[in-house]
Amino acid sequence: MAISLDTSIQFIKGVGPKLAELFSRKGLKTVQDFLEFYPRSYEDQRQARNISSLKPGETVSLKAQIVKVASVPLGKSSKRIYDVALKDSSGIIHCKFFRVPYKGYFERFTPLKEVRVVGEVKDYRGRIEFHHPDIRDIEPDEELQDQLIPLYIELEGTSSNKIMKLIRGALDQVDLWPEEKFPSFVLKKYGLMSRKKAFYDVHNPAMEQGSEFLNFQAPAQKRIIFEEFFWLELFLAAKKTGLQQERGPVIQNAGIWVQEVLKNLPFKLTNAQMKAYKEVEKDLQGPSPMNRLVQGDVGSGKTLVCLLACAQAAESGLQSCLMVPTEILAEQHFKSTQKFLKSDIRVALLTGKTKTSERRELLKKLEEGKIDLLIGTHALLEDDVQFKNLGLVIIDEQHRFGVEQRGTLKVKGKNPHFLIMTATPIPRTLAMTVYGDLEVSIIDELPPGRSPIQTRVAYQSKRNQAFDFMRDQILKGRQAYVIYPLVEESEKIDLKNAVEEFEKLKTQYPDLRFGLLHGRMKPFEKDEVMEKFRNQEFQVLISTTVIEVGVDVPNATVMIVEHSERFGLSQLHQLRGRVGRGEHKSFCILMLGYAVSDEARERVEFMEKTTDGFKIAEFDLKMRGPGEFLGTRQSGLAGFKMAHLVRDFSILLEAREAAFEIFKKDPKLKFPDHQALKTELFKAHGPAALASIS
Ligand code: ADP
Ligand code: MG
Repeated sequence: MAISLDTSIQFIKGVGPKLAELFSRKGLKTVQDFLEFYPRSYEDQRQARNISSLKPGETVSLKAQIVKVASVPLGKSSKRIYDVALKDSSGIIHCKFFRVPYKGYFERFTPLKEVRVVGEVKDYRGRIEFHHPDIRDIEPDEELQDQLIPLYIELEGTSSNKIMKLIRGALDQVDLWPEEKFPSFVLKKYGLMSRKKAFYDVHNPAMEQGSEFLNFQAPAQKRIIFEEFFWLELFLAAKKTGLQQERGPVIQNAGIWVQEVLKNLPFKLTNAQMKAYKEVEKDLQGPSPMNRLVQGDVGSGKTLVCLLACAQAAESGLQSCLMVPTEILAEQHFKSTQKFLKSDIRVALLTGKTKTSERRELLKKLEEGKIDLLIGTHALLEDDVQFKNLGLVIIDEQHRFGVEQRGTLKVKGKNPHFLIMTATPIPRTLAMTVYGDLEVSIIDELPPGRSPIQTRVAYQSKRNQAFDFMRDQILKGRQAYVIYPLVEESEKIDLKNAVEEFEKLKTQYPDLRFGLLHGRMKPFEKDEVMEKFRNQEFQVLISTTVIEVGVDVPNATVMIVEHSERFGLSQLHQLRGRVGRGEHKSFCILMLGYAVSDEARERVEFMEKTTDGFKIAEFDLKMRGPGEFLGTRQSGLAGFKMAHLVRDFSILLEAREAAFEIFKKDPKLKFPDHQALKTELFKAHGPAALASIS
């Protein structure tokens, strides 16, 4: 039979039913899946090194002998570190594994066995070591001359070498290659080889391209990475082009209500706030609906920008809604509207705790158009929340939501305007992928008079000092937060931590007034605690991360985070943003747990170096990958098999440019050269992807 990329993997020579079953469990079902099982790295055997010559930071390959495999418990937790010691004639190096690659992985490493290793040399307290290197057995039939060998992730006992042979076999067997889908100008402009050749080359790398392959800069890798980014960007370009052709509610008025809000403010908008608002205003008055993301660091004053937009919509007789991730934040925004908006803008609050009778009445008013701005949590998404003429949708702290919610709110109006706000500064890479169909405004300035928050990382031995410092500040009239992590799998333990510490601190500092806040409390209990903290009945708020986003109590100047190593940096940045919101100098103390790896400590220490949320976000993306920013699974990014958002940024830019250029020349994809693109969009995203552009 003729073999194409869609053929089942079991028809590849050497893949019997048993292997096919195992591969299919790993998601490799078709020949294409198999060809896209790209090498994780390459071993350049010409460059094999002696252990004694290794320097931190290099990625190297070497041949060595197993000395010993040990496993040591990690701190008090149930986790273990595996340590494989290797030696050659020049010295010894340890390979550390913080998780087991697969069951039985370490069993085959018996002392004296010869292995080949590829990995990045790390510096651990002045000693070199590997973390999660590729270690593989030297096979008896291995060729003696030096080669550039692709290394694959081993699949439960199927060695990298065997996988390499099977994939090379598959490449030879395919006789029906699909036609080129890229328009010829794209191939030419970006110097891309054919996909077929790219597949062939990544699995059969040429010796002389050794260092290029190792650094993901070989032409074959570029074609594959470009292609992965390109399909995502093409979809975003289609979406954006479609949106530009929609007609939204037109907001044309003199902006008198906006002027009134501005006149009554106790302060002046910063230039950055004003600039962002001007961009929003222009969108609102344009013919197509606004789709704008406002990024601004914590405390930059995003709320006002969105309230101005609401005032503008209300003046034109359109309704707005503002969705936020937590009840605390919904309450707080509601209070802001009372402070800043004129009283004839009718504002209502809808959360999970709104009473049934109250809710019924509220929904009725909403349908009759007697509410101008509805503020709420996820409760806004419910089916029976219906507007008379929803013209503006605002989502605050967007990173806490998935992308789907935008769709749910969109159908509650007729092509309403969208304003999306996030305080987690998003690295440019993510702004171009996940949010690639949006216009972006950046508020890159804080209101005047804020002095930078002083940040210190502290070990447990300095704990009392940290809390004494907090007490000093409180005696000066300030307030403080103490935060405990809450991770799902051990929610109970963590909860106990916060509650226990609360009791302990109360006895240790009987002169201070402590409040406790955690996710298991009922909404009204949370509100009560927050209210008491706001009016200074409580001086210290002990809390799990429920306060992470948005909370604004300007008198609080000390933030202590326990087990800070368990947080993502962007989350720490958010937490730190709870202080430094008023005129007083603020402090953030990041406590480390007892058993903390050097890597984790270094990561947290980055917080001492900068308060620039964008720098922190970039660093975090590099260290922990995009999951941190996206929280829930977000469409598009999960599909990358080779592309890497940080490493391949320049290719991302090219792919984005190509995709948008295509739509600029041919907004409805009518050119013959673009038909394959249309088919692909349809295959990947269904009729919706094309509906808007046809
Ligand atoms: P975020 O961007 O984190 O959502 P907020 O909108 O909560 O920030 O604003 C933070 C604090 O700064 C609030 O107390 C707000 O009233 C205040 N604020 C906003 N804009 C200004 C300004 N231009 N000058 C002074 N204070 C401001
Ligand atoms: Mg906010």
